[in-house]
Amino acid sequence: MSEMVLSLEGVCKTYNEGKPNEVRVLDGAALDLPRGEVVALVAPSGSGKSTLLHIAGLLDTPTAGTVRLMGEDMTHASDDKRTAARRAEVGFIYQFHHLMPEFSAVENIVLPQLANAVSARAAEARAQDLLALVGLSQRASHRPAELSGGEQQRVAFCRALANGPALLLADEPTGNLDPATSDTVFEALMGLVRETGLSALIATHNLELASRMDRTLRLDEGVVVPG
Ligand code: ADP
Ligand code: MG
Repeated sequence: MSEMVLSLEGVCKTYNEGKPNEVRVLDGAALDLPRGEVVALVAPSGSGKSTLLHIAGLLDTPTAGTVRLMGEDMTHASDDKRTAARRAEVGFIYQFHHLMPEFSAVENIVLPQLANAVSARAAEARAQDLLALVGLSQRASHRPAELSGGEQQRVAFCRALANGPALLLADEPTGNLDPATSDTVFEALMGLVRETGLSALIATHNLELASRMDRTLRLDEGVVVPG
């Protein structure tokens, strides 16, 4: 198996190609993310961070270039294969938690595992373990509306990791939180990532948080450059 969990090569993305409102967002972006490495992606709003993360997470396709997950070229794989790889290997975290409001914290972490054919008992045990890692054992039976913003986001992290992905993609995961909460939540996220040996690509505007990751990359004119 490849040492690279994620490789992007010559990735281009143009929206509305050939139309007057054409936007060239990525223009030959490349990066290699080895196993266990945590990389910050820092760039101003509108520079293509979300576009890059969606392409890396097989939620979108590039206009040109190659996306490899665990060494396997996924660029031209069938929709079924891309969906299966995404479910098995990728955890995605957004700025907003997107938890299901009618379910408790622990249920929100159990459900994706049931969809992945894990037994109810094993799913519950893993969900409780993950909640303990982010310090939320006492909130397991709370619904999202009964949790603070920082707690909701920590539950969302647990859900993203529920099925043991190899790659975590996070799109401004603390962007919606006040600075103090952002700090606690980021520490919880890093704890989870280090505990599980995940590779992570984390878009953030927060340079202080970026400095706590292994490496920083920037997006400049559609190209990935060292930070
Ligand atoms: P970031 O996450 O860094 O703020 P995005 O990847 O969201 O940047 O967007 C990069 C650029 O691409 C922006 O100019 C945005 O308006 C444009 N863009 C994003 N998605 C689309 C889309 N679906 N159609 C057209 N333009 C888009
Ligand atoms: Mg964005």
